[in-house]
Amino acid sequence: MSDIPQSPSPSVESGGLFGAEAAVSVVRVLVDGLNDMALDYAAPPGMQVRRGCRVEVPLRSRKTTGTVLALTSSKPEYPLKPLVRLIEEEPVVSSALMDLAEWAAAYYAVPVEQMLRCIVPEPVRRERHEEKKQKYVTLQRRPTDEEMNRTNTRAPRRAAILRYLMECGEGEYLSVLGGSSALASCRALAEQGFVLIEERAVYRDPAGTEQFAPSEPLQLNEEQEHALKVVMQACHAGDSRPILLQGVTGSGKTEVYLQAAAQVLEQGKSVLILVPEISLTPQTMARFKSRFADKPGTVAILHSAMSDGERFDEWHSIRRGAARVAIGPRSALFAPVSNLGLIIVDEEHDASYKQENSPRYHGRDLAVLRARLEGATIVLGSATPSLESIFNARRGKYKLVRMDKRADNHRLPLTRVLDMRIEPKDKKYLGILSERLRCALEDRLRKGEQSILLLNRRGFARALQCPDCGHVVTCEHCALPLTYHLSENRLVCHICGYRAVAPESCPECRSRGILLEGYGTQKVEAILKRSFPDARICRVDADVTVRKNALRDILEDFRAHRIDILLGTQMISKGLDFPGVTLVGVVNADLGLCVPDPRAAERTFQLLTQVAGRAGRGEVDGEVIIQTYSPQAAAIQFARRHDTDGFAANELGLREKFAFPPFSHLAVLTVRSEHEDMAAFALTTLHKRLLAALPPEAEISEPLPAPLPKAYGQFRYQCVIKAPRARIISDVVSTEIDRLASGDSVTVTLDVDAYNFM
Ligand code: ADP
Ligand code: ZN
Ligand code: ZN
Repeated sequence: MSDIPQSPSPSVESGGLFGAEAAVSVVRVLVDGLNDMALDYAAPPGMQVRRGCRVEVPLRSRKTTGTVLALTSSKPEYPLKPLVRLIEEEPVVSSALMDLAEWAAAYYAVPVEQMLRCIVPEPVRRERHEEKKQKYVTLQRRPTDEEMNRTNTRAPRRAAILRYLMECGEGEYLSVLGGSSALASCRALAEQGFVLIEERAVYRDPAGTEQFAPSEPLQLNEEQEHALKVVMQACHAGDSRPILLQGVTGSGKTEVYLQAAAQVLEQGKSVLILVPEISLTPQTMARFKSRFADKPGTVAILHSAMSDGERFDEWHSIRRGAARVAIGPRSALFAPVSNLGLIIVDEEHDASYKQENSPRYHGRDLAVLRARLEGATIVLGSATPSLESIFNARRGKYKLVRMDKRADNHRLPLTRVLDMRIEPKDKKYLGILSERLRCALEDRLRKGEQSILLLNRRGFARALQCPDCGHVVTCEHCALPLTYHLSENRLVCHICGYRAVAPESCPECRSRGILLEGYGTQKVEAILKRSFPDARICRVDADVTVRKNALRDILEDFRAHRIDILLGTQMISKGLDFPGVTLVGVVNADLGLCVPDPRAAERTFQLLTQVAGRAGRGEVDGEVIIQTYSPQAAAIQFARRHDTDGFAANELGLREKFAFPPFSHLAVLTVRSEHEDMAAFALTTLHKRLLAALPPEAEISEPLPAPLPKAYGQFRYQCVIKAPRARIISDVVSTEIDRLASGDSVTVTLDVDAYNFM
């Protein structure tokens, strides 16, 4: 996101107090449940309404709730109904977060209400989740020996409770002491003055009963020392120019985050940490819990798999200021942290920061904006930063800090690139498992070591790739793989709309070309099971992980070596910190390359580099085997040499040539419908109007069936819009979508700064 304004201008008043002293205060309220409908009300005299407050409002004959968007003192043109009441005096949404919501709504072309829904999560809005209270019993006075003896004979149950409380030294919840059946005994003890019974909020810790041993700060090496100094200088100066921390895997970035966080806490400020996904990166969460274990309750975990009650508790504990370190995935960027000093975005290149359903915001980009709005410092860390961030560092928008040495003493594993073009096309293994990878797996099984197999599959696009020379048929204008459309026997570019006849033979080597058909983890699993009938093999993919905690359980089993071979999509590559793993195989690197996506090479490079940096964390050296039909591809070659700078220079050159991000902004306009003709018609209509309405510096591709032409029973048509600034797209397109009034049978979505072109 390169066009964040220096200071987003909130539409009306921000944060000011309006009440008795203003003659007429008009309060603009975003009414819950009325899709983005803002209505004006009058503030009754004496009611201290502020922007971001939750209020009760009259709506026709009933009452409902809403959030105050703005206050004005202009004279209303018609008499306004008064607000019913303030639900809470303090604004639920801070002024900075209100600005963030308004800015993001305009940028991503979504109603403000959708952004506010992210900021105030459902359980908090519903307010039904009152904090869970329970009776808590504390010892008030120690009984004398004589009293104890007497109680023992007359009321053994009371005596047992007293003994328990004396032993544990502090209070305990009634439920632990025996629940309601112990209540009478506790009441009797309270009457005798031995104990006190009170209601206490029960804190539902999502990390459960897990214990975290306190950890001591490590002695930093020179590079870490420097990085910490840069971060702390920015914190002291209130400088929110983002710091890009580019440090190779194992360079000790997390230790830098930990020590920076500790210092920011010392200053009395709070810290927000974004991670790709907690269930995939439990180590990061555990390291923060451990470091601050001596201050219980300081670290709040926001987890996507949390129950409503847990989310309610964590949200309020952050808002109260009890928890001052908040850790979570992209949505945690909206956490109600006050007095924010530092934001850390770990693995900032990770695609999971982009939300794939509405509002399709980018967590890292909004975090950068939030830091600016709150005068906080922000650190974006990665071994393989996104090209957007590298580009921003090159032109001085971000400050670059590097850590090129590994802090642990592990050597980088040996990486082999295996040329699948020369593998015998064996029926039994269907070109999926090479001889070499099979032998390597067998070797690990024999030695009792563990292996990971990665299938970096994204979507289902069919590209044409020659099995003999590896040549991929690409677009002349975009250099991206063309997608094969069976119905018309044509190859189509999904970014610019270029079409070509599918060649009968390979244009490079004249061999008869075949379709590269994506295959899934299930097929690989079947072949693995056939090859290694005695091995304990576990598959992880979206099908398996729908069950809550399924992934966590599998990763725990793997860590405990109850699984020999873990097979999965790129989701398992993030948590690759298993000392027992000595072999990582990438089944088919081309599956990630042959997709019509400007970031395909970048993502493949990042995946392979991360994998190579993480295999072999234990005592035994690791080995990485990458199977591919295009061993010469830049993404593969630079990854093999762990050369992030080389890859970035090469790839930025290509992106500039084709005016792809970060040199432009791309948005995907998608129309979905159960009826194919309606989807096609709606998009054609929109396309025609957009051609007229968009300024000349914007480009729009022909409407086409999406590379994934049908999903969830709906036909999908899309076109891609490119412009130098995102707001050019969002402003015009949102107007045209509103004008279209397409009815219920057609869904139109706009994905600004799209990461998914399928
Ligand atoms: P990164 O996040 O950059 O991949 P980590 O923070 O996970 O790297 O560090 C890799 C390993 O090096 C960890 O086991 C960590 O405990 C260790 N480590 C980090 N900093 C130091 C240091 N200054 N001295 C010794 N070991 C360190
Ligand atoms: Zn060929
Ligand atoms: Zn093209």
